[in-house]
Amino acid sequence: MQLSKSEALFTEAQKYIPGGVNSPVRSFRAVGGTPPFIARGKGSRVWDVDGNEYIDYLGSWGPLVLGHSHPAVVAALKKTAEGGTSFGAPVEGEIELAKLICGSLPSVEMVRLVSSGTEACMSAIRLARAFTNRNKIIKFAGCYHGHADGLLVKAGSGALTHGIPTSAGVPESYASETLVADYNDVESVEKFFLANPTDIAAIIIEPVAGNMGVVPPAPGFLDALRRITQENGALLIFDEVITGFRVGPNGAQGLFGIRPDITTMGKIIGGGLPVGAYGGRKDVMEMVAPLGAMYQAGTLSGNPLAVSAGIVTLTELQKPGTYDRLETLAKRLTDGLTKAFQSVEIPSTINRVGSMFTGFFNAGPVTSLAHAEGSDTAMYGRYFHAMQEQGVYIAPSQFEAGFVSTAHSEADIDDTIAKATEALQTLR
Ligand SMILES: *Cc1c(COP(=O)(O)O)cnc(C)c1O
Repeated sequence: MQLSKSEALFTEAQKYIPGGVNSPVRSFRAVGGTPPFIARGKGSRVWDVDGNEYIDYLGSWGPLVLGHSHPAVVAALKKTAEGGTSFGAPVEGEIELAKLICGSLPSVEMVRLVSSGTEACMSAIRLARAFTNRNKIIKFAGCYHGHADGLLVKAGSGALTHGIPTSAGVPESYASETLVADYNDVESVEKFFLANPTDIAAIIIEPVAGNMGVVPPAPGFLDALRRITQENGALLIFDEVITGFRVGPNGAQGLFGIRPDITTMGKIIGGGLPVGAYGGRKDVMEMVAPLGAMYQAGTLSGNPLAVSAGIVTLTELQKPGTYDRLETLAKRLTDGLTKAFQSVEIPSTINRVGSMFTGFFNAGPVTSLAHAEGSDTAMYGRYFHAMQEQGVYIAPSQFEAGFVSTAHSEADIDDTIAKATEALQTLR
């Protein structure tokens, strides 16, 4: 595979941009090699600047549930742009997107639009603290909620009571307000409430973990979190930045029948433009400025372009049969991949919820961060490059989700399975 133009661009980019990228995992550090610079995308495909074509399962890390350059999204963006791109004043589209969100996510009575998932989660935490008048929060090791200081904390050994900052530049005092529990382990949560009965403002969780690779919640796990938070006067925050409008029309909360107090969103609700949102119970959301004492603002929040792309995307998703089709396509893919892995006798476990999935190089089952971390990441790196060679674009890390879009065809899926079978042959 020829990547000479990408290589030249990557060298150039590294002179001006840290690591040559504007988000770290794009640099391919986990798998090695040069990231292809993408020239364009259409439907299920992307093309790099060297003219290589790929079937894409990254989907811009989740937002592109309709595929690249969807005609209705492009038309809406053109129309909106011609009328002005930003006003810093209310526009009608904001109401429409808010109504679509509130109408779809059972627990969301009011919603505030922001510009990224990071901002949504950061604001949701501030809101939970304001509402409960408490400081501590619980997150789960391996869950990602954006890069706000207090959320860049992950469990290290001995970190049961005090968080250890994952990133340099996060004050210890700040990180110590974040308690890190284990995903799918109710006891690890109960311990914190026993030790801090009146200090915990909220639990924040990805209801289906996507940032340690896809790990579904164990039966009863989310119900237990709902019960524990209610019993202790804490709020439950579902981070549905990936799962919202991905795992079903009503998000993970609809799929599992749980009503969180606050939900954070992003990715799909912006249809590929920069967006985030947080919403929830009316009495909680009424604490947000200008109604209440919790301050949060944004120059480009509710941006007309982002809002119009979001409206079209959510409207397209509401067409009958869309989620059934995503389910059918994704199942066809993961069933085929499972057989391909078996045929070469490479230990593997594929976790899938709706159209999000991860193939772990791991005999499994993978139900926790510890299991996920037991995967053969070197083997994943070789698989990644073999797939790239075959013209299939997947996440450049074992600990990420893959996404199927409505633009993928049965032929794309079958082609991908054939290519994966070829790629896996080279790993033996
Ligand atoms: C991507 C992601 C975020 C952060 O969203 P950005 O738009 O990248 O800031 C937060 N939570 C989850 C679960 C995510 O996957």
